[in-house]
Formats: sequence, structure tokens, C-alpha cells
Amino acid sequence: MSEKITILGAGLAGCEAALWLESQGVEVELYEQKPVHFSPAHKKAGFAELICSNSLKAERLDSASGLLKAEMRLMGSSLLQAAETARVAAGGALAVDRDLFSEEVTRMVESRPGIHLHRQEVTQVPGEGLTLVATGPLTEGGLAGSISELTGGDHLSFFDAVAPIVTAESLDREKVFAASRYGRGEADYLNCPFNKEEYEAFHAALVGAERAELHEVDKLTVYEGCMPIEVMAGRGADTMRFGPLRPVGLTDPRTGHRPWANVQLRSENKENTLYNLVGFQTNLKWGEQKRVFSMIPGLENAEFVRYGVMHRNTFLDSPRLLLPTLNLRQHPHIYFAGQITGFEGYMESAACGLLAARAMLAALRGKACPPPPEDTMCGALIRYITAENKNFQPMGANMGILPPLAEPVRDKRQRYMALAERAVASMKGWAESTL
Ligand SMILES: Cc1cc2nc3c(=O)[nH]c(=O)nc-3n(C[C@H](O)[C@H](O)[C@H](O)COP(=O)(O)OP(=O)(O)OC[C@H]3O[C@@H](n4cnc5c(N)ncnc54)[C@H](O)[C@@H]3O)c2cc1C
Repeated sequence: MSEKITILGAGLAGCEAALWLESQGVEVELYEQKPVHFSPAHKKAGFAELICSNSLKAERLDSASGLLKAEMRLMGSSLLQAAETARVAAGGALAVDRDLFSEEVTRMVESRPGIHLHRQEVTQVPGEGLTLVATGPLTEGGLAGSISELTGGDHLSFFDAVAPIVTAESLDREKVFAASRYGRGEADYLNCPFNKEEYEAFHAALVGAERAELHEVDKLTVYEGCMPIEVMAGRGADTMRFGPLRPVGLTDPRTGHRPWANVQLRSENKENTLYNLVGFQTNLKWGEQKRVFSMIPGLENAEFVRYGVMHRNTFLDSPRLLLPTLNLRQHPHIYFAGQITGFEGYMESAACGLLAARAMLAALRGKACPPPPEDTMCGALIRYITAENKNFQPMGANMGILPPLAEPVRDKRQRYMALAERAVASMKGWAESTL
């Protein structure tokens, strides 16, 4: 009997998974709703459509995106081959002609005899057989309802309101101090105390900062619960001081007094290597976030591993729902890949497709498939999306989620290279052992 897998969605994750599985001799039933039906952001009939930027980000091995690409090549990425065909000049980044890229991926998929295409909207997750759901961050309608039913109630989010995330090691510990308000419980938060002048300068910069243009798809969504910090700042000089920047219950150890205002940082992971800016969901342009948020005392040299965004984004509560093999705990024959799992970004989504494909092939053949080691970027991302996390939000590749080196390296460039080399060696071993 032939081995068969169903894939929903011919986007970045779905195409990577389909091409790799077919190359392993699996028959793939691939369902894609375009051109019968388009999401509000998809415009073209081709597969693997890049709906916004045409950059697939950095290529240097000592960068998080470059490392991710190196790992994808070791896993047999077809999309990176297509990207080579469609490459345009972009300095140290891999950028593509988006139409050529999509045409190349579509050609690859259509030329494979083992991939059977169905151009139709799927409204229900199939009840039987191994299925990969890779319908992306704009999954909606009947299919979203079917996923909600399978996952139980409110485990599917439709909106992303993420505050920026910085690395712990880039904070100025002379200024930032650990404390909880009124000394209650553990000192779980890091605090960035403002004096009056610093706060006024920060407020003025925030009000005047340039905002990102909203995509049509985001304009459709009115999100009541989360006001962008710049909108709050625009309501008056003191509004933030009575909201997320309130200083009550805190004493700055440097002055012995209550600060004029205070930004709290909350840990993002168990290892406390990443912190988010509490209450800082924002629509500012990324460059502006760096400029203005670096005015917060203690964040002058902060490394931003993720900027704030507010946009439509359908994603699972993966820590509760998914196993590290990317299938549902309650319905192990249903796998997920791409942005819908919380792997954030084009290449991250594609990498997730490769990871799910490997896990599915192993399941088909009755073999075990442990996730990649945690010192690889892919393994660290899987751990991030499946580890316990009450405030789970999607996450892209970044060096902050990798476990530290056994021997600390002070120089950042050298440290990143050492982390990348360690990851590549681990990924090589894993990729070979899971075939
Ligand atoms: C507005 C927006 C802008 C973004 N911009 C960027 C960016 O600039 N850079 C970046 O790195 N990331 C960006 N992202 C995040 C993410 O990287 C992309 O959305 C990426 O395309 C996700 O890949 P995917 O394979 O998970 O989903 P997609 O690439 O969206 O693929 C999903 C596919 O499934 C199909 N589909 C959906 N529902 C059904 C159904 N019911 N039946 C059949 N087919 C279906 C869709 O038509 C689509 O082809 C953006 C996300 C959004 C929402």
C-alpha cells in the first residue's frame, strides 16, 4: 500500500512539507484554496506567496536567520533552492523577486508526480489519515471553526498584540533592578525607572514617532483589549504613568525613592534570557521602536530580538495543544506547521513545514522522531512553542532562545558564531539520524 499524507495549504510550510515528503516516496494530497478563494492578504494564484516583504532575512551564519537557513539546508529545503533562482541583490540578506519565487515553487510542486493537487477551500480537518494543517495566519471560516472544535474552545487566537522583546544580557544592570510591586512575592519583574526629565523626553519622542501603515487585513480587525502604547501616550502626558508605567509600590535602589515612572520587563522564558516590555504593544515602525524604546533607562543598548506588532494572526495555543512532534496531543494524527503553530516568519514557517514532514514520515513508518536538539535553532523554536507559557505569542528565530555555551564567550560576534557552529553540528547529526 502506498504511503499517503494530506496537506492543507500550499503556502511556505505546506509546500516545503509536500516537496520533502514526495521526495521520500510519499503520496501527497495537497489542498489549496487559491484561486477559488483568497484570504484578505493573498492576491496571486501561485503557491508560497510572500504577502508582505520580499526579504527572507540575513544569510550570515552568525545571525539567527542565517543559522535557520543553514539548518533548513541540512533538512533538505526546496524553498531555499527556489529562492536562489529568484534572488535579487540585497546586501547580506536573501531577498527574492516574489513573483519568480512563487512561480518556481509552483513549478516544483506541479512537476512532482507524487503530489496530487486539489484547488479548493477546505472547511473541515479530515477525520482520518495523517493530515498536516498549514493554512497560515489568516486561517478563517469553516476550517478555523473545525480547528477550534478539535482543540477545544478558546485555544485558537485571531490577533497578535506583541510587545517588543529584548535580551537580558543587553540590559544595563546599573539602572535596571529586580522587584515586584510592594515587594509582594518573588522579585519577578525587572524595572526600568525614569526620572521626570527622562520621562518627559520619552513621552515626547513616543508621541512624535512614526507609525507603521496598517495592512488592509489589520484594519478589518478592531481589537478592543489592547491599546497601542503610542495611542495611550497621545491621550496625555500622564496617562502612561497611571497605566503600564505606574511607579507605585517600587523604590529605585539607586535613589532610594519612588521613580517618576517605571517600565516593567517580564521574563519570556524559563531561562530568563529574554524579557518583554509590559504593556508596550505597538504599531510603531521597527526603526522607531528601536530609537524610542532605547530611551527607556537601562535599555540604551538593548538588543531587540522581536519588535512589537499588532495584527491579525491566527495561531494555536501550542504549549497546551501540541507535542514537540507538532501533532495534537488529543488527536495525534493531526499535525500543524507554519505560522499557525507560533513559528513566526517566512523562513520559520517553511522550516516548521520540514520539521512536521519529518515527524509525519517517521509516524507513517512506525519510527520514533525526537525533535531536533535544543541547541539548534529549530529545536529551540519547538521547545519555545511547546514549553509551558501562559502568555504564549509567536516567536521568530533569535539567538536569545538558544541555550548558553558551556564556556562563556564575551565578544558577541564570536559568541554567535560559536552558537551557530554548535547548532549546525547538532542539526547534521539529527537530520541524518531521522531518515
Ligand atoms: C499580513 C501579514 C504580513 C506578514 N508579513 C511578513 C513578512 O514581511 N515577513 C515575514 O517573515 N513574515 C511575515 N508574516 C508572517 C508569516 O511569515 C507569513 O504569514 C507566512 O506566509 C506564513 O507561512 P505559512 O505557510 O504558515 O502560511 P501561508 O504562507 O499564509 O500559507 C497558507 C496557505 O494556505 C491556504 N489556505 C488557507 N486556508 C485554506 C483553506 N481553508 N483551504 C485550503 N487552503 C487554505 C492559503 O491560501 C495559503 O496559500 C506576515 C503575516 C501576515 C498575516
